[in-house]
Amino acid sequence: MTIQQILRDAGSYLKERNIEDPSREAGLLLSWYLKKDLGYLYGHMDMELDENAISGFMSLIERRGRHEPYGYITGQCEFMSLTFEVNPAVLIPRADTEILAEAALFALGKFTLSASEAQIPVLPKKETYRGLDMGTGSGCLAISIAKYMPSIIMDAVDISEEALNTARRNAIRHKVINRVNFFRYDILSDSFISRYTEGNKYDIIVSNPPYIPDGDIPTLMPSVKDYEPYNALAGGEDGLIFYRAIAKLSEKLLADDGILAVECGFDQAENIRDIFAREKLKSVFLKDFSGINRVIVAIKQV
Ligand code: GLN
Repeated sequence: MTIQQILRDAGSYLKERNIEDPSREAGLLLSWYLKKDLGYLYGHMDMELDENAISGFMSLIERRGRHEPYGYITGQCEFMSLTFEVNPAVLIPRADTEILAEAALFALGKFTLSASEAQIPVLPKKETYRGLDMGTGSGCLAISIAKYMPSIIMDAVDISEEALNTARRNAIRHKVINRVNFFRYDILSDSFISRYTEGNKYDIIVSNPPYIPDGDIPTLMPSVKDYEPYNALAGGEDGLIFYRAIAKLSEKLLADDGILAVECGFDQAENIRDIFAREKLKSVFLKDFSGINRVIVAIKQV
């Protein structure tokens, strides 16, 4: 079979199983499987593949046909132009979350395009900043912020030991393990506060917490609800449980001129602004690529 034939078969297989953009997905998977870029594949459409290659590739296509996410099949995902290891213990980083990373970097004095349009506050200049990522998952936020901001030391917490191990490997891969400390914590529990209330406060706190209302999880796409970790998705009855906890924690953990930046669900920004306001945090919104308020940046009101 030639590359052209196998791509056509794989594309129609995925199409029958309602995978969006089936030809592109087939091309990307073959390119990953053969370790050749897409341009190479399109330039060698007549190349014959041997039996082994065909059955190996088709088993990946079958997994994708069962709606297993592309990221879990390849074990990796791009975020902020960095490649992160992902596995079923962690949420696959989303493009929208880059807006949060960019907002944090903007607040730290790095110019970023998406954040420059909003009225985001910039932290006073400092030799070393301290940051906290709550619910770090793959570590994509803590690690990309540390990577692009050499003068920050990050703490990153998660409830899942498996997620933390993944995040540690990602920090090693991106050479920031000396500036990102990982801790296992349940941000809904009090022990979190007691560990941190003494001493140092944070200049910046970021979080992309689980924010899907529990009852909505069964309505999500199969690739999400059947494969991504439930505890990375479910945000309690109204989806806002973590924002309440984060607001309370920020009251104690955030420096007086510090910044809190979170991602939220498509209809949650105003409710979260109100939750934050109760803890004397003043919010501005940033929109995602579909024009939805997706990121909230808040400062303490003094
Ligand atoms: N912070 C990680 C991310 O943004 C994990 C988020 C989560 O599991 N809810 O991808």
